[in-house]
Amino acid sequence: MPMQQDVLIVGGGAIGLLTALNLAPHVRHITLLDRGAVGQESSWAGGGIVSPLYPWRYSAAVTALAHWSQDFYPHLASELFARTGIDPEVHTTGLYWLDLDDEAEALAWAERERRPLSAVDLSAVYDAVPVLGPGYSRAVHMAGVANVRNPRLVKSLRAALLALPNVSVREHCEVTGFVRSGAQVQGVRTGAGDVLADHVVLTAGAWSGDLLRTLGLQLPVEPVKGQMILFKCEADFLPSMVLAKGRYAIPRRDGHILIGSTLEHAGFDKTPTDVALASLRASAIELLPALADAAVVRQWAGLRPGSPEGIPYIGAVPQLPGLWLNCGHYRNGLVLAPASCQLFADLLLGRTPIIDPQPYSPTNTLYPPQL
Ligand SMILES: Cc1cc2nc3c(=O)[nH]c(=O)nc-3n(C[C@H](O)[C@H](O)[C@H](O)COP(=O)(O)OP(=O)(O)OC[C@H]3O[C@@H](n4cnc5c(N)ncnc54)[C@H](O)[C@@H]3O)c2cc1C
Repeated sequence: MPMQQDVLIVGGGAIGLLTALNLAPHVRHITLLDRGAVGQESSWAGGGIVSPLYPWRYSAAVTALAHWSQDFYPHLASELFARTGIDPEVHTTGLYWLDLDDEAEALAWAERERRPLSAVDLSAVYDAVPVLGPGYSRAVHMAGVANVRNPRLVKSLRAALLALPNVSVREHCEVTGFVRSGAQVQGVRTGAGDVLADHVVLTAGAWSGDLLRTLGLQLPVEPVKGQMILFKCEADFLPSMVLAKGRYAIPRRDGHILIGSTLEHAGFDKTPTDVALASLRASAIELLPALADAAVVRQWAGLRPGSPEGIPYIGAVPQLPGLWLNCGHYRNGLVLAPASCQLFADLLLGRTPIIDPQPYSPTNTLYPPQL
């Protein structure tokens, strides 16, 4: 049945773009609307670690999506590269956590979940990462953790969609509300007129809660500002990702080093600040003292789609037939994107879902409007 149907996707970050790509072979037509250029918000601004920062601190719901995605990422990247010539650069470096307070919990989680995380001798860490700063006393390591060059990931997703005959990507087209007939959602309102479809999918990241409010629905998805800084070093400067005291360093393949990040509740303000610059730079130098002599080549901020416990909302909105959600991925939208978008497509297309969809169901979390 969905083969004969049209889908409208609101928001072209990693989640909206990959949702569109997964649905495209199975529906008649997809229109993806973004109020700016696609892939320029959180999905551009993020660090791209293909793992939650502290995976053992998350619920089983986040873990299930993360594990499915981590296994799938290399395949996604090579498929996108083959289709578009743009390489999302999945860079598998492993990750060292230094001086964790909850090391025992981390190790117990790894044993339970069968993840390759283990305590390592500090001398082995300094052998592997000679540029690491002094003064650490403990480390755990997870082999196989990658980072994805997310600005290239979204560029590649966009190019893949533009090549499809049944997908229209409309940039600089802001959605201001929804078209309804009774409870049925039939489309969206934009400055350029109404756009109608059989299914409307909200993938508007940090803005999703605000858009739902126009329907009288309350979804606890709120912007959480994150700032990052960037250095450029020799390609082999940092062979692994490292993380201490909530701050991390991510090496790209070409020697760019990202240092992140802040967590700020500042509404929709994305202005980078001097306070964050000083704090991130101090963390960078503590982790990797050689960066004291390097220039910060860029600073930016993005807005994470914050949600309670970071559990995204994936599925149909029962009170409003025709309306679907795939949003609220908070700190993990890049790692969770493949599984979230596959699960979403399974639900919309009526296929057997890759994992149990219940934990992500919007059913119990939306407060009903007066219809
Ligand atoms: C500093 C920082 C570091 C991060 N690090 C990582 C990490 O290492 N690993 C990880 O997995 N995740 C990380 N994240 C989180 C990750 O970036 C997000 O969870 C993810 O990008 C969310 O994707 P999205 O598509 O839902 O949202 P977005 O990428 O924000 O996309 C939403 C889109 O909706 C559009 N939109 C909004 N309102 C409207 C409207 N009214 N009409 C039309 N379009 C609209 C926007 O223009 C935007 O393009 C980080 C985030 C930040 C900020």
